[in-house]
Amino acid sequence: MYIDQSKIPQATAKRLPLYYRFLKNIHASGKQRVSSKELSEAVKVDSATIRRDFSYFGALGKKGYGYNVNYLLSFFRKTLDQDELTKVTLIGVGNLGTAFLHYNFIKNNNTQITLAYDIDKDKVGKVVGDVPIFNLDELEESLPEDVTAAILTVPSQVAQSITDRLISKGIKGILNFTPARLTVPEHIRVHHIDLAVELQSLVYFMKHYPIE
Ligand code: ATP
Repeated sequence: MYIDQSKIPQATAKRLPLYYRFLKNIHASGKQRVSSKELSEAVKVDSATIRRDFSYFGALGKKGYGYNVNYLLSFFRKTLDQDELTKVTLIGVGNLGTAFLHYNFIKNNNTQITLAYDIDKDKVGKVVGDVPIFNLDELEESLPEDVTAAILTVPSQVAQSITDRLISKGIKGILNFTPARLTVPEHIRVHHIDLAVELQSLVYFMKHYPIE
């Protein structure tokens, strides 16, 4: 069943980890179903709130039966895994790359640049905004397996060959800030942000489609 998670109210989302922990215990004890009353007593949330919360998860408790523990657990697992930290590497610590390392998406608590690469000997070995810079020649040996996304801020001529190497190391998503159009296998997601094009397009629209 598809559930649009953006529709889950924040107050409900905050109770998710609480429900999740309790349901894991229930599951471990071998129970297949649980009533909203049992849940309510265990997590100290009134049962009307629990019923409303669970309706957002697509879980409709049946009278006299309660909720299906397996269904709820798999829903919580899927939803909460989105809060897992995605580790990101940045390739090319030039002007733009340096800015990203300082910024490091601190407000997104589920993404973090954990290491960067460059080929410039003056940059390799340094730490910028808490992020260590490695030698790109040693990518294959040094990129940790749990890093799954990459930001590309290198000159465009080298973007494709670096992309190929990143993919063969298991990178699944690339945020491409170079003007190069990258060719990647189907299972790899590339988002392309060409700042120069965006700026030109803004200026074009300002001129030709002025907002009165
Ligand atoms: P800077 O002012 O530091 O040169 P820039 O953004 O103007 O930055 P670019 O030429 O776009 O310079 O290079 C961006 C960064 O990519 C630089 O730090 C450069 O050393 C690095 N770089 C260049 N070629 C490669 C490569 N093949 N692999 C990894 N990094 C590279």
